[in-house]
Amino acid sequence: MTTRRNSRTVRVGGLTIGGNSPIPVQSMTNTDSRDREATLRQVRALVSAGCDIVRLAVPDAKAAAIFSYLKEQGVTVPLVADIHFDHKLALESVAAGADKIRINPGNVGSREKVAEVVRACRAAGVPIRIGVNGGSLEKPLLQKYGAPTAEAVAESAMGHVRILESLDFYDTVVSVKSSDVRTMIEANRILAEKTDYPLHLGVTEAGGLGRGVVKGAVGIGTLLAEGIGDTVRVSLTADPVEEVRAAREILSALALDPKAGIEVISCPTCGRTRIDLIPLLAAFEKGLDERGLRNKKLKVAFMGCAVNGPGEAREADLGIAGGDGEALLFRHGETVAKYPSDKIVEILLDEIEKTEAK
Ligand code: SF4
Repeated sequence: MTTRRNSRTVRVGGLTIGGNSPIPVQSMTNTDSRDREATLRQVRALVSAGCDIVRLAVPDAKAAAIFSYLKEQGVTVPLVADIHFDHKLALESVAAGADKIRINPGNVGSREKVAEVVRACRAAGVPIRIGVNGGSLEKPLLQKYGAPTAEAVAESAMGHVRILESLDFYDTVVSVKSSDVRTMIEANRILAEKTDYPLHLGVTEAGGLGRGVVKGAVGIGTLLAEGIGDTVRVSLTADPVEEVRAAREILSALALDPKAGIEVISCPTCGRTRIDLIPLLAAFEKGLDERGLRNKKLKVAFMGCAVNGPGEAREADLGIAGGDGEALLFRHGETVAKYPSDKIVEILLDEIEKTEAK
């Protein structure tokens, strides 16, 4: 297996990003941060879905106060203040209890303003994420490279990093994002060579649930498979809970998710399938959520026929292999019994409740 890049570690609230720490999944609320109730509800939904770090937009001072409110309400997940340009909002967010600030020091204005933010972050033990997007690259770099290339976004990020270093601040996480997957991959490879700061991975403006998940998975997954990347966000034009689900699936696919619960293996169905596997799988997935079984560390096989089905089902903790209107149930490789197909989902869910992984 590829060795993970040896990044430095940065504390964010009760979590560590970088080094050998598990890779935290991030998402961002899309409620108005000034709407306290709606934002609290969404933060809780994200946490329930497995979000490890939640970012909130801070467009004004009222929004900055959301951090103290969320903490008062018992929210413990680390919270990130997303700031564009206005250093006062960064100061207010730190004062209100934000655990991390996302701001680009080169866009803040004067060196004294950056120094103020750095002083506040240092005093509160709050790290800074520098986030460069291909779409908002500085004009001189666009002129130098002619386009927001991987080299250009990496150079921009390093410029922001150097500003913080010149103020003796190293508690930094860096992201270089692009809506172009290859640019995002290449930019992160460049940064991984140049620096040991932890890297936050994401493909930005990736799209909705279908295309966006694929783009995110290709960009983030390629880098993670190479050992690059310390925290991830899948950006989707969708409910942010979907971002968390997609990110957890990416981590699980690469065996990088300590929170991974049930692994479902299901066959694609073919001309041999004699059981209505597609709706049965949908009912099964729904049942896993309804019964709160997602976190059980079990491998479950959902196979359409008795040709290839039993082989896969035997490797799993539990499995079914479809027959003609019926299905065989397997537990740890042994055949348990044959059941009618309209009963098999409930029976399988009951079995999951009773079964522990070997
Ligand atoms: S397991 Fe059986 S039904 Fe499913 S794809 Fe393979 S051969 Fe077809």
